[in-house]
Amino acid sequence: EAKRQGKGRVASYRPGLLEATAERHRLEADLREALHRRQFHLAYQPIMSLETGEITGYEALLRWDHPVRGSVSPAVFIPVAEETGLILEIGRWVLEEACREAASWPKGRHVAVNVSSVQFRSHLLPSHLTGALARSGLPAHRLEVELTETALVEDGPTIARALAEIRRLGVKVAMDDFGTGYSSLAHLCDFPLDRIKIDRSFVAAAQADPHAHAVIKAVVALGRDIGIPTLAEGIETVEQLELLRGLGCGAVQGYLIGRPARFLEDEKVGKLVLGSIFAA
Ligand code: C2E
Ligand code: MG
Ligand code: MG
Ligand code: MG
Repeated sequence: EAKRQGKGRVASYRPGLLEATAERHRLEADLREALHRRQFHLAYQPIMSLETGEITGYEALLRWDHPVRGSVSPAVFIPVAEETGLILEIGRWVLEEACREAASWPKGRHVAVNVSSVQFRSHLLPSHLTGALARSGLPAHRLEVELTETALVEDGPTIARALAEIRRLGVKVAMDDFGTGYSSLAHLCDFPLDRIKIDRSFVAAAQADPHAHAVIKAVVALGRDIGIPTLAEGIETVEQLELLRGLGCGAVQGYLIGRPARFLEDEKVGKLVLGSIFAA
């Protein structure tokens, strides 16, 4: 009786729920097939040094082209992959592919790979990193893994141990989306990091909102004090670029410098935009 009533309640009060659950299951089934059917590829977005104007590396961003769904956003499928554990297999593929492609890039540029907190907690990550580096021939220092701030806040001690192990391999570690995870600035000092990536929501708001501007300024200053370089995400305008450069931020990424692309095609855009700034 209670069960029947429960079902009725779900149906009458949450009409979209069953449908959403069914769609989730379809998405999960499709994701399971995606690796075998070669529906994934990586797009690369350039990272530019604000000190030299040079492209120093690229962030690998996962792309899923489903024959019927079309291009599915990682913001949609990564959470499903994390809940189902599929992220372990997918994440391993991303590492292998990114290292393999980066090994042939010019001038020894680095590749930044997003790694889920599920992967960090699995204990398999160090061996997956070692394997991908060995098979590709990519030197460890040219690989950087990006971890979101939320993961650090949720599972600090476990993640800190994993980070130390990864850095022993010579692989670099960046904190992604900083400012969105509600950790304090002091938190930054607790983790061995090679880079702090300031979330693009602060960049987008910086000119209109004094608070966002103050956050960026504080993070850049703290980074300088504790010796961790900062990078600002989501730079879309020359004004934003000049603002970040003025604050002493070390590097930038964003549509202004280059969109994520299947093949590397950055230089001209960056040089064109920056020519005047860096000449001055
Ligand atoms: P993220 O790591 O913070 O990556 C930056 C996101 O911002 C990317 O979205 C990128 O396309 C977008 N972006 C870059 N520049 C600009 C800009 O100037 N303006 C705007 N509006 N957006 C910009 P994308 O590719 O949709 O990825 C979303 C998120 O999905 C990533 O955020 C990352 O958290 C996750 N993700 C992507 N690839 C992977 C992966 O291989 N593994 C894992 N675990 N997560 C991934
Ligand atoms: Mg990232
Ligand atoms: Mg980010
Ligand atoms: Mg992000």
